[in-house]
Parts: sequence; structure tokens; C-alpha cells
Amino acid sequence: MAYHILALMVQHYMVKSEHELAQILHREPVGCVNDFCQNKREVILKMRTADICPNCMERLVKKLNPPETNHVFELLESLRIKMLFAQNMRQHIEPSPLVVTSENTLVIPAYGNLEIRMTPLEKTLYLLYMRYPEGIHLTSLVEYKTELQDVYASISSLGSLEEMRQSIDDMCNALNNSTSEKMAKIKGHFEKALGKELAKHYYIQGKRGERKRIGF
Ligand SMILES: [Zn+2]
Repeated sequence: MAYHILALMVQHYMVKSEHELAQILHREPVGCVNDFCQNKREVILKMRTADICPNCMERLVKKLNPPETNHVFELLESLRIKMLFAQNMRQHIEPSPLVVTSENTLVIPAYGNLEIRMTPLEKTLYLLYMRYPEGIHLTSLVEYKTELQDVYASISSLGSLEEMRQSIDDMCNALNNSTSEKMAKIKGHFEKALGKELAKHYYIQGKRGERKRIGF
């Protein structure tokens, strides 16, 4: 989707009409955003290349200033990396550090700034475990209640203070499944984004009755 939206914007600057667009589209794929791609396999090729051919580039530089052109290429490059990543390269990829941005977004910069999305509560739990790489017993979570509340308050403006306390209380209650459920959800987010193998380096895990920690 992101690729196609970007391609449409690029085309919008290159041509004045659909008729003109039809004239510049490449019937034979050359690995350019303007490849026509009648055969859907060629779409994958186009996205894996994520490039603009010299002819089309010539049109584009007349319409966009250099910073805008750079931006287009940066976006294409980030999509290209994501695309390669989403495809068969997964099993060969080495784990790379996950970072928390200033907006409290979880991203893996080396994978094209791949973002791992989760709900504020899941993220609260995850951020706590990031702070304690040695791990935390589920039954000890209650000792981290204040810290969890602080983390949650810093990342979410949703809900009232009372609701927040209740959610954190649920997480800290060892008799309640809330935390295990959240950990399962977190695992799911990583597996969806990274595939099962690579995800193992990132989600919270641990044998029953042992400390849970990030990675294995
Ligand atoms: Zn082209």
C-alpha cells in the first residue's frame, strides 16, 4: 500500500494526464516505479528494486526540488528494505537491536525502521522487561507496580488514572491471567513482524515458574 501511494504521488508529478501516464509506463519491466506490471509477479520485482529508471528520473527532477527527490528515494529505500525483509530473507537475518524512540515507538532501525506495534499496556510490560534484562518472576511483578504505573502514564493518555491503576493492578496480580495474556499478545506482534525464528530474540519468555525475560 505504502509503495503504491508513493508511486502514485511520483507519477502525479511526472505526468499531466492518465493518457500521458499510459505513454510513459514501461510495458517491459525495468525495475522502475513506472513498470506497468501486467504480470503480478513483476510487482514483487518492482517493489524489491524500489527504484526510478534514468528516463523517469529526468522527468521527476524537473518537478521536484533536490530535497523532495531525496525524500522520495529515502522512502523507496525504506520500503525496499521492508520488502526484502518480509520476503525470503527472514531466515538469514541476524537479530538487531530494538530501540525505543522519543515517542515511545518500538523500532528496529536495521530492518528499515520496522515498527513493532502493541497496545499501551502491552508496551508498558515490554518496556519494564527491557529495563531488567536479567528477568522478572511473574509473581514479583507486584514489586514493580509503581514503575509500571510511571511507564504507563508516560506512554498513554488514554483512560482515567483509576482505570490505569486497575489495569496495572491486574497485571501485578499473580492469580490473574492478565500478564500471561499480554505476553502471548506481545509474542504474536513480534512473530507477525519478524517471523517465528527471529521473533524469539525479542519477546518475553521463560519456563513456567522461572523468571521471564526478553530473548532466550
Ligand atoms: Zn521508468
